Amino acid sequence: MAKRKSRKAKAPPKKKPAKLDTAFVCPFCGHPDAVGCLIDQHIFARASCRICQESYATSANALTEPVDVYSEWIDACEIANEGVDARPPRRRRSYDDDDDF
Ligand SMILES: [Zn+2]
Repeated sequence: MAKRKSRKAKAPPKKKPAKLDTAFVCPFCGHPDAVGCLIDQHIFARASCRICQESYATSANALTEPVDVYSEWIDACEIANEGVDARPPRRRRSYDDDDDF
């Protein structure tokens, strides 16, 4: 007769494995933890908001992490905002027109 000790071997892990943040505040709707990142085969990455469906796609490499994709998105938003607000379109020429060649 084999006696088997049925020990509870598997205790539920109390610590989460060291995981980087993968959910972020959406730059569009401001919802916390609404933005998730998808990194596909280290070629392509996408961050998207599950609330307002905004998304941002970029290329990825072996070192790309969700936070990188997200911060790129934020940068892109800031650049876009600046472009909209700050400057009126420039039509002026810096030099005189009448240089006869
Ligand atoms: Zn959103």
